[in-house]
Amino acid sequence: MILLTGGAGYIGSHCVKRLMENGYEVVVLDNLSRGFRDAVLTPHFVEGNIGDRSILESIFSKYKIDAVMHFSAFACVGESVEQPAEYYENNVAQTLTLLTACKDFGVKNFIFSSTCATYGDVKKIPIDETTPIGPLNPYGHSKRMVELILQDFDTAYGLKHCIFRYFNAAGCDPEGMLSERHDPETHLIPIVLQVAKGQRENIKLFGTDYPTPDGTCIRDYIHVNDLSDAHILGLKNLLNGGQSDIFNLGSENGFSVREVIDICREVSGGEIPEVEVERRPGDAPKLVADSTKAKTILGWTPKSSNLKYIVETAWNSMS
Ligand code: UDP
Repeated sequence: MILLTGGAGYIGSHCVKRLMENGYEVVVLDNLSRGFRDAVLTPHFVEGNIGDRSILESIFSKYKIDAVMHFSAFACVGESVEQPAEYYENNVAQTLTLLTACKDFGVKNFIFSSTCATYGDVKKIPIDETTPIGPLNPYGHSKRMVELILQDFDTAYGLKHCIFRYFNAAGCDPEGMLSERHDPETHLIPIVLQVAKGQRENIKLFGTDYPTPDGTCIRDYIHVNDLSDAHILGLKNLLNGGQSDIFNLGSENGFSVREVIDICREVSGGEIPEVEVERRPGDAPKLVADSTKAKTILGWTPKSSNLKYIVETAWNSMS
């Protein structure tokens, strides 16, 4: 049995579906503060906080947990700057309680959702795992802190970890059972598609004077199903005795904000008016992954991360 935290959220819910399709049993722990009960596709669901020791004790006593996949976290950069206390409490303090329960109950495998925001102001593209660390905000700090705790727990207690640093998670379940529902929505592709649907007036381009070919930021969009497949490979690697490690997960292709909007126009047929506004604080001009390590060590091959396909699956999930 896999304990998956945050299974009512966007990426976690997709991973639950993929795990079940691959024959794994999954119990989800989620407090539903930002997720949705109807996105949890496993019958095993516990509502509660990952930092609630008594809930963790009851889960670890009831099920034989082979590994934990830890998705639940607050994940908005801007919000983390305004509310660092909430971010450190939720993402770090509560995760420490979860990790301590893993130690106490003899769980040996832990798969952690981290982020390319741990790299900060990068000088070299594409970004591989040797890129210097330097988060620029409390969200990135909180993820990096847990990475360090995981390394110490491995040394002291033999709790093995697989850390995944995601680039821009995007797209949805092609069967239309799951979608991306953030409130408020801050991510580019769902916002642009909301404009195409007439739910918003326009898309604001956050900065058009970046040192990129069209002046807008370049990002690496990776389909949630490819992220989920990486989690399954990371799980197998740990269960087969693999060592603790860190992997970047991206498509290795960069697209500018304007290019994303153009593909959204093509897929949706919608108008999508643009408005040029100031830069959003904290945005790096270009973030593109080098995922060679995940490909080499885990045998990971992203299959669904063609940007048009990503946008098509996101668009279909909205209709
Ligand atoms: N972006 C934008 N308008 C929006 C939302 C996002 O121009 O309404 C830009 C944002 O500045 C960044 C890119 O789109 O360059 C991707 O942003 P998103 O928030 O989706 O992901 P991030 O890269 O910040 O994790």
